[in-house]
Amino acid sequence: MEEIEHLKTRLADVVHLNHAAAVLGWDQQVNMPPGGAPARAEQLATLSRLAHEKFTAEETGRLVEAAAAQVDGLDYDSDAAALVRVVKHDYELATRVPAALVAELARLTSQAHEVWAKARAEADFAAFVPMLERILDLKRQEAEALGYQERMYDALLDQYEPNMKTADVERLFDELRVELVPFVAQVFANLDAVDDSPVHKKYDIARQAEFGLKVIERIGYDMARGRQDKSVHPFTTEFSIGDVRITTRYIEDWMPSALFGSIHEAGHAMYEQGSNPAFEGTFLAGGTSLGVHESQSRLWENVIGRSRAFWGVFYGDLQKLFPEQLGDVSLEAFYKAINAVTRSLIRVEADEVTYNLHIMLRFELEKDLLEGRLPVRDLRDAWNAKMEAYLGITPPDDGRHGVLQDVHWSSGLIGYFPTYSLGNFLSVQYWNKALQDVPSIPDDIARGEFGSLLGWLRENIHRHGRKYWPAELTERVTGEPIQVGPFLRYLKEKYTDIYGL
Ligand code: ZN
Repeated sequence: MEEIEHLKTRLADVVHLNHAAAVLGWDQQVNMPPGGAPARAEQLATLSRLAHEKFTAEETGRLVEAAAAQVDGLDYDSDAAALVRVVKHDYELATRVPAALVAELARLTSQAHEVWAKARAEADFAAFVPMLERILDLKRQEAEALGYQERMYDALLDQYEPNMKTADVERLFDELRVELVPFVAQVFANLDAVDDSPVHKKYDIARQAEFGLKVIERIGYDMARGRQDKSVHPFTTEFSIGDVRITTRYIEDWMPSALFGSIHEAGHAMYEQGSNPAFEGTFLAGGTSLGVHESQSRLWENVIGRSRAFWGVFYGDLQKLFPEQLGDVSLEAFYKAINAVTRSLIRVEADEVTYNLHIMLRFELEKDLLEGRLPVRDLRDAWNAKMEAYLGITPPDDGRHGVLQDVHWSSGLIGYFPTYSLGNFLSVQYWNKALQDVPSIPDDIARGEFGSLLGWLRENIHRHGRKYWPAELTERVTGEPIQVGPFLRYLKEKYTDIYGL
């Protein structure tokens, strides 16, 4: 396997450069004083450029071809064959887009960030229109360079969810829309059935942090290979399989933000920590797609973290830490409060029931924008019309409650949004399969034992890293392609009970 070893040696440099850049990026968001920003941007640009040059050089292409010849005839499931598959895929994508276009996109989106932030703060949609037009123009060029068969949007979606097609996502959302829109209306008509005031009291931040850390360690986030810090926007980042870090943001009068945010990021981190150790330093380590990644975070955050059984384990400890806030709040009242549905206009604050409608709306708008069916100047009206149609509410402004609320489009992230919903759908599909394979999981969780679930996830999903494409993995794990039905059933059962519908 000499050729494979040559390829691995070359790619190890690329992996090391990328992970070194990740350390600088983590430091920027967690520790760095503001004065470090200009130089840090230059340092990051240099490392990214070196990694990109090393990876896209002809020498890498030659080594990929030589390695491909060597693994020809090897079993599909062998690690060597998988490594060549993944590297070949990444190499082709990375070499299709001209360097000049990559540089132009980087320049434009860094400018766009400032314009968007100002427009959002001033709720001035018109100020962002010309910038978004230019971004879309470059994204169309990028899609053409990447190539696609049916839909331009396919080319961009594929970067986040390999092999997933626009038509597949449309089919899933069509099924979701039909059932979920009327169900949301039904819940909205009964909002009084749940009181969420217990979680809106003031909760001391140091105690929130202490409790949150205890929870994520207990569910299986390995602190010997991880750590938790504070940042403005929560995220997970990995420097190796042995060092996967998360961050959290604390809000004093909305306790669920940090608690469920920590469980969410720990879910991402446990996926990264669970890669086969033999994949360290190679392209096979880490998650196979954003959708599968999100399935892991959502499974722990919502399916487990927002369940009665979970709080049967932890509620007593939480009450002891916050006797003033929770002393006279029953477990059942707390369970309902953390699952309260609200008429939120803001995606990042949305509950489990409405969240996917926020995503569906963005998916529909961004593919229409990209594929030329919706002019950017009409985006705000289209946004508001869909909010009214899906959630029965119209944003009072175009800023943080409206069309300018998310950072994604200003960053050129088009094709990214649907992966949030794919993750929600998959979380329930994987969970159902885990219950089928290991029927003791609910009893184990009720006893505060999370090892049987984590063990199942490790064995069936985590350890494979990027070895299988997302659709292959889901088929191998569940015997079916991705589906929305199980998620809808889970949601209806849970919230029919909570809201007494
Ligand atoms: Zn996430």
